[in-house]
Amino acid sequence: MEAIEEKDKQLILTFANGAKKTADLVIGADCYGSVTRAHFLPGITPAYAGYVAYRGLIPENEMTDEEVAFFENKFSIYPYQHSHLLCYMVPGTKGELNKGQRLYNWVWYLNKPKFCSSKISAKQ
Ligand SMILES: Cc1cc2nc3c(=O)[nH]c(=O)nc-3n(C[C@H](O)[C@H](O)[C@H](O)COP(=O)(O)OP(=O)(O)OC[C@H]3O[C@@H](n4cnc5c(N)ncnc54)[C@H](O)[C@@H]3O)c2cc1C
Repeated sequence: MEAIEEKDKQLILTFANGAKKTADLVIGADCYGSVTRAHFLPGITPAYAGYVAYRGLIPENEMTDEEVAFFENKFSIYPYQHSHLLCYMVPGTKGELNKGQRLYNWVWYLNKPKFCSSKISAKQ
């Protein structure tokens, strides 16, 4: 959806392929760069939250037995100054649940107050 137009108590939606749809009610669930929100609340822009998160997946079969014993079947969290890390098991890429075929999802949150200006545009 690229645009919303209000006409005679109805909403006309225009889509990228040129299609148009008319509706009595529109529910906008189009995430942080929402076209719906920009139409109805044009003054609202995303603001930088002050932290970044790095994340990745480690195949279980690339970990040592000791590492698997430490991390499996638990949600691990390690807080420290201006940061925290967390790790939890997730299924393999094809839904595998067997030991050795699973993945370990890690996330490293890092406070970065000066990472960029406090306001960012939806397009960034
Ligand atoms: C890497 C990552 C990991 C995450 N991990 C977790 C987690 O472990 N736990 C948790 O609770 N949350 C997690 N989140 C957050 C969670 O994914 C989001 O909060 C949630 O998906 C938001 O849901 P939503 O329906 O608002 O938006 P979305 O899930 O982003 O859905 C919006 C949909 O609207 C579509 N769309 C956008 N613009 C338009 C348009 N103009 N026209 C038509 N369609 C449009 C998009 O294509 C998308 O399909 C994670 C997010 C990321 C990025």
